[in-house]
Amino acid sequence: MPDDPGLTAARIKDQARALGFSLCGIAPAGAFPELRFLREWLDRGYAGEMRYMARTADRRADVRNVLPGARSVVALATNYNVDRPYTVEQADPGRARISRYAWGADYHAVVGGRTAALLDWMRHASPEPLEARPYVDTGPVQERVYAQRAGLGWIGKNSCLINAELGSWLFLSEIICTLPLDTDPPALDQCGACTLCLEACPTGAIVEPRAVDATRCLSYLTIELRGEMDEALRPEVGSHVYGCDICQDVCPWNAPAAVSDDPAWQPHPALDRPRLTDLWRRPDAELRPIVKRSAMSHAGVRSLRRNTAVALGNSGSAAAAEALAEPAAGSRANPLVETHAAWARERLRHLGAAPQTPGKP
Ligand code: SF4
Ligand code: SF4
Repeated sequence: MPDDPGLTAARIKDQARALGFSLCGIAPAGAFPELRFLREWLDRGYAGEMRYMARTADRRADVRNVLPGARSVVALATNYNVDRPYTVEQADPGRARISRYAWGADYHAVVGGRTAALLDWMRHASPEPLEARPYVDTGPVQERVYAQRAGLGWIGKNSCLINAELGSWLFLSEIICTLPLDTDPPALDQCGACTLCLEACPTGAIVEPRAVDATRCLSYLTIELRGEMDEALRPEVGSHVYGCDICQDVCPWNAPAAVSDDPAWQPHPALDRPRLTDLWRRPDAELRPIVKRSAMSHAGVRSLRRNTAVALGNSGSAAAAEALAEPAAGSRANPLVETHAAWARERLRHLGAAPQTPGKP
C-alpha cells in the first residue's frame, strides 16, 4: 500500500476543479504589506457609506485575525463571463446596463455552496483536525490580495483581479484554514503602461492606479448607496441601473475573455439588456423574485427603481417621459424613487423629450 499522501495542495486543486471552480491556488496566511493600503483608503474617505469596511478593518488586516492559527488560504475563482457584447459596445441609451455578474444566479448562494462543498471534502480528506472559515465576497477578508498571493492573477489598475488566461470576470472565494499547505508563487502585475481603465471611467473614480474612490464610482452609487444620489453625479449614471463594467470592458485582458457555459451565470431574460421602460413598468410582483434570485438582492427593488428612474431621465427619449408620466404604483411610488423620478422628468424636459400624446404621430 502506498503511503496516504494526506490532504495536499494538489488534491485540493483537483477537487476544486471537479466542483466547477476555474482557478485554485494557495497563499500563505500572513499580513502582507499591501493589506495596509485599506487603512489609507478608508482615511481618504473613499469608502463613503460603507461603514462596515471601517468596522472590520482590523480583521481585514490579516486573515489570522479571522482565524487564529490560520496557516493557508485556499483562493478560488469562478469565471462568470457569458457570450454577450460588453456594455461599452451597447449604443442604445434606452437599454439598461446591468453589471455582468448580476445577470445570472446570486453568486453568494452558488459560489458559497461550492466553496462549502470543497471545505466539507477537505474536512473528510484531512487526516488531522482542521479549522477553517469559508468566505464569498462578504467576509472580513481582502480576498483580492490573497488571490494575487496565491497566483490567481494580479490586481489591475481598475482594482479587479485579472488572470492572464481568463480575464477579470471572476467571482472570488476562499477557505482560510489551519493546514500548512504548499503555497503558489504570487502573480505578477501585467498592466504595464496601460491606462485604459483610468481614461474610460466616466466619473474619474480611479483616482490613481488601484485606488478607486467609491463615492464617485457608479457601482457604489447604484448598489451600495441607499439614499439619494448626488444630483451632480446623476447625469454620469447614464443607463447604468445596477453596477458598472466599463473599467473591465475596456481592459485588454478581457478582449476577448474566457466564456463560461455554466447555466448559473446565463442571463435571466428580464435582465438581458432590458429596455428601461420595460424594467420601469414591470410590476413589483414580477420584479421581486427576479431580483431575489440574482446578486441584485444585495441592493433590492427600491434601489433598482431609483436607478432606473435616473437612467430614464438620462435616456432623453419621449418613451421614457411617457413611462415616467404614468401613475406610480408599488415601489415606484416610494418617496426615494419618486424624488429621482421627479428629477428625471425635469431632466427630460430640459432635453426636450416630452411624452407623446396617444393617437398622434
Ligand atoms: S466601475 Fe465604472 S465608475 Fe467605477 S471605477 Fe470602474 S469605470 Fe469607474
Ligand atoms: S485596462 Fe489596462 S491598466 Fe486597467 S486594469 Fe486593464 S491592463 Fe490594467
